Amino acid sequence: MDLFTLPDFDGHEQVVFGHDRATGLRAILAIHSTALGPAAGGCRMWAYPSSDEALTDALRLSRGMSYKNAMAELDFGGGKAVIIGDARAHKTPALFQAFGRLVESLGGRYITAEDVGTTTADMEQVATQTRFVSGLARTSGEVGGDPGPKTALGVFLGIRAAVRFQLGRSLEGVGVAVQGLGGVGHPLCRLLAADGARLTVADARAELAEQVRDELGATVVPAEAILEQQAEVLAPCALGAVLNERSIPRLRARVVAGAANNQLAREADGQALMKAGILYAPDYVINAGGIINVAHEYHGGSSEAAVRAAIEKIPERLTAIFERARRESLPTSVVADQMARERLRAGRAG
Ligand code: NAD
Repeated sequence: MDLFTLPDFDGHEQVVFGHDRATGLRAILAIHSTALGPAAGGCRMWAYPSSDEALTDALRLSRGMSYKNAMAELDFGGGKAVIIGDARAHKTPALFQAFGRLVESLGGRYITAEDVGTTTADMEQVATQTRFVSGLARTSGEVGGDPGPKTALGVFLGIRAAVRFQLGRSLEGVGVAVQGLGGVGHPLCRLLAADGARLTVADARAELAEQVRDELGATVVPAEAILEQQAEVLAPCALGAVLNERSIPRLRARVVAGAANNQLAREADGQALMKAGILYAPDYVINAGGIINVAHEYHGGSSEAAVRAAIEKIPERLTAIFERARRESLPTSVVADQMARERLRAGRAG
């Protein structure tokens, strides 16, 4: 394998392979860019079938973090770590301590946090070895803790801006189909309902959908039917790659705006949405509320009001993307990537 010609290698500054014999740690830590500040991004634990696949994931996810942090106007670059292993079977406190020493060895060029397969408790172990970690348990009154409700707030404000841009109206009476009612989807439904939206919801776990029906009067549909609901807005808040060549022709929404990461299966799907007349809110721009919360936690001395004010900038950013996409006849996904790269270049030059 020629590392520097891999399709997902994008001029990454540094890629570190970490191994610890005593604990069995096998980790890959990718720093895409520190142009705007130390590279920040979570640590994923996954039973990758091969180290090639772990490397590809680390390269792709770390670039995504550069774009996400740049567009959220955070003074952070982009990085990501992956630990190869089954999160249900191979976790030990010592493993995360060894990972903490690996993070510490980079002297602050990379800041870690929890991600898929890792938890606040794991990060507490990391924090015994390094201060370059965020997403720790907080006592009440401190900024931090579960980022889900903050992500939901940003997505809600983003949906409002997208509906205003595409349909020229408020959310009163607008149909919103929400896929996934977990840590983000459920608080998002509360905000949407309070603003007058009509909710149609689905979750792979039927009891979560029933809870939202009972609490907010939402209509529940089977999980496999949610994407093609007759609703002005589709909010994917479950899995990635839901927007693909099979699903896009079946969509009936005029706006797609939700929390899920990597909603487009391929770059070409952004073009397909544009051709279908559907306004797409780029996922890493609309779902930045959580990372904004994590950034404020990391820097310390912040307040809930400051976090909220930073999240309230998400709709302005989205509207700027929508306007430029319309002017230049480009997909919003392409425009968001262009804007993120412009910010990274400006950071490098500055
Ligand atoms: P979560 O695991 O709490 O909730 C996801 C929900 O989706 C679960 O209830 C699950 O049962 C449901 N689901 C899974 N497959 C489904 C399907 N096919 N149809 C319908 N429902 C299905 O996750 P979360 O924290 O709410 O995050 C949701 C999405 O947003 C994820 O893609 C995540 O990566 C992304 N995201 C989350 C945050 C955050 O702050 N939590 C931040 C940025 C992005």
